[in-house]
Amino acid sequence: MQITVLGCSGGIGAGRRTTAFLVDDDILIDCGTGVGDLSLEAMARIRHLLITHTHLDHIACLPLLLDTLFSRLQSRPLVIHARADCMHIIHDHIFNWQIWPDFFELPERERPVVRFHAMEPAVPIYLDGRRIDMLPVAHSVPAVGYRVERDGAAFAFSGDTTSNDGFWDALNAHDTLDLLFVECAFPDREQALGQQAGHYCPALLARDLTKLRHAPRVGITHLKSGEEDSVFAALQARVPGRELLRLCSGDVFTI
Ligand SMILES: [Zn+2]
Ligand SMILES: [Zn+2]
Repeated sequence: MQITVLGCSGGIGAGRRTTAFLVDDDILIDCGTGVGDLSLEAMARIRHLLITHTHLDHIACLPLLLDTLFSRLQSRPLVIHARADCMHIIHDHIFNWQIWPDFFELPERERPVVRFHAMEPAVPIYLDGRRIDMLPVAHSVPAVGYRVERDGAAFAFSGDTTSNDGFWDALNAHDTLDLLFVECAFPDREQALGQQAGHYCPALLARDLTKLRHAPRVGITHLKSGEEDSVFAALQARVPGRELLRLCSGDVFTI
C-alpha cells in the first residue's frame, strides 16, 4: 500500500497545502488544497473519497474536483464515504446551488457524478482488498479518523482531534499499526484554546501517545502555519523514544 501526502498543513502559504492523503492511486482521504497539485489524470483515477469532517481545510477542493472531473465522472461516479451527518452538512451548505451546483443531481438526478455512502465506526468497508475502519475522535464538529489495512499492513489517520480515549482504544483493538498520522495543531501555550477548538498540542498528544500499545512511525500533521518548527520540536522533546516524522506535501510512504 502506498500513501502520498498531498497536504498536511494547518493553513496555506508558500509550500503549504491543507489536508489530503492519497492511498494507492484511487482512494483519497480528505480533499484539502493539496489535491490541486495532482495532474488531471491522477485526479481522474480517484474512485473513493473518505471525509474526516466538514471543516473547510478538509473539503476545500471537493467542489472544484467534481467540476473539473465532471465529464469523466459521468460513466463512473465518485463515491464519498463519511458520517451521515457530515454528508448532510456538505450537501446542504455547499452543493445548494448558491455556493456551488448540486453535483449530487447532475447531470441527472438518476445518474449523478457523485454519490454518498454513509459509514459508521462499527462497520468496516472493503475497497479492492483494502479494509477501511472509521475511528472515533473528539473535535469541535462531528469528526472521525480512519484506519486502512491491506495484506496485514495498516496505517491510520486521526483527522482533527483533541485528547480522547476512543481513537486510541480503536487502534489498540487491532493487531497491527505500521504508520500513524496524527495532528498536533496548537502550541502548548495555547492548550486551552486548542482544546476548545478540538485540537492537540504537544503536551496532550505526548500524553495520549502513551495509550497506544503499537509502536508505529508517527507522522505529525496540521502544524500551525508559521509555528511548524517550534511545535514539532516541543513534541519531539516530550516523546524522546518515538520515531516522529514531520510530514511535508509530496512525502510518499509504502507499507
Ligand atoms: Zn477541523
Ligand atoms: Zn483541520
